[in-house]
Amino acid sequence: MCGVFGIHGHDEAANIAYLGMHSLQHRGQESAGLVAADEKDGKLRRHVAMGLVSDAFNRDVLAKLPGRTAIGHIRYSTAGTSELRNAQPFVFEYAGGSLAIAHNGNLVNANELRAELEAQGSIFQTSSDTEVIVHLMAKAKEPDVIGKLNAALRRVRGAYSLILLTNNEQMIGVRDPNGFRPLVIGRLKDAFVLSSETCSFDLIEAEFIREVDPGEIVMIEKGGMTSHRIMAPVEAPTFCVFEHVYFARPDTFVNGKSVYRNREKMGIAMAKEAPVEGDVVIPVPDSGVPAAIGYSKESGIPFELGLIRSHYVGRTFIEPQQSIRHFGVRLKLNPVATILRGKRVIVLDDSIVRGTTSRKIVKMVRDAGAREVHMRISSPPTQWPCYYGIDTPTRRELIASSHTVDEIARYITADSLAYLSLDAMIRAVRGPLAPAAKGESPGYCHACFSGDYPIAFAPPANGKRQMRLVGV
Ligand code: AMP
Repeated sequence: MCGVFGIHGHDEAANIAYLGMHSLQHRGQESAGLVAADEKDGKLRRHVAMGLVSDAFNRDVLAKLPGRTAIGHIRYSTAGTSELRNAQPFVFEYAGGSLAIAHNGNLVNANELRAELEAQGSIFQTSSDTEVIVHLMAKAKEPDVIGKLNAALRRVRGAYSLILLTNNEQMIGVRDPNGFRPLVIGRLKDAFVLSSETCSFDLIEAEFIREVDPGEIVMIEKGGMTSHRIMAPVEAPTFCVFEHVYFARPDTFVNGKSVYRNREKMGIAMAKEAPVEGDVVIPVPDSGVPAAIGYSKESGIPFELGLIRSHYVGRTFIEPQQSIRHFGVRLKLNPVATILRGKRVIVLDDSIVRGTTSRKIVKMVRDAGAREVHMRISSPPTQWPCYYGIDTPTRRELIASSHTVDEIARYITADSLAYLSLDAMIRAVRGPLAPAAKGESPGYCHACFSGDYPIAFAPPANGKRQMRLVGV
């Protein structure tokens, strides 16, 4: 879980990239980094730091990143890998010059490739899977950067939305053949922009052009933009449905569809699938808001803000340690007793991972005087870990992998609990124009809900993750 951003051909490239990274802050809060290519001396300059974009950069730091092209990266926290050396973009020197790379996603065969490369003498500087791509590029015999990139991508499998930058001011955008993670192209006057999400374009007033297609490489250099195909096996596109459920910002458009509207549709579907008598519908802010609006509209039960979120703490899931997360829920949300006292309350949230958050919320709402608490989750039970770049715990830690809905309801102490069905969720994101025929690939990866993994990988030993997910 990461965000990537790039701007090519702008007098204030570093400043614009800084703003772009700001708008992607929800995609990761562990580290932020920026690399600028200076056309005057042909150098790539880099600044990375742990923490939020606003903490990592200031006017002085940005002034030391001259040039008309810059790429940025926001990194999500994954337990145990919180180190500066894994902060991206990475910069490497190789026979072809200097190269910066920023990656969102996760490679499923990085461990095998790394072992092979190390056996051949490669020395890795980070523990990130992203570095594998660079070593493969460095070893490739092809003369130009696109050829080298293609040679590398032929070997890797998994999820990758990449932005690369060369010291010749070439900016390259890549999306893996499945298109797991988003990557969009925009224009800001004469400049080209790449970003994980369209919400960045609103902030910098860029115009949305189109998405980078699954399996496409776009090369942006002086003459404009050219499109190339990744010479890797063509897969059916399987965009991550969880981007729609939780991860992307609601003001972003994915595949021409509003994330906000899709979440609202999930709420509407939820009200149809799992109606319950209640006096008030409340969201778990911010993730449950659009779904709660949908549920309220469909059921006719009034929408209220029964929980107030402090905006001065990060997302609760963000802290790697369990102890901090427990504390985090209370720090982050406060119930509004006036709204809840004596009421039958329907609480909407997007997902349950370990169940910790929901359990605390139900207790909080009940302690504030609610007569009944009904939990509605606008996605199916999360039962399987993600190997394509969303940070999820091991299968054992996912409460829905080993408990029925009734058992989970008892654990979170709700009067009732219901999840949205897989079909209804997919219908909400696809829209009515393109209904999935039975058995047809819906065009989405929903492995975290179904266990149906679009790209095979060696099953993890000891029930743990197959590899450390870093640099994603
Ligand atoms: P838990 O307490 O482990 O059940 O966490 C559930 C909460 O975490 C839900 O409110 C979700 O909005 C949020 N969430 C779900 N998946 C993720 C994720 N991969 N990263 C961060 N937060 C998440």
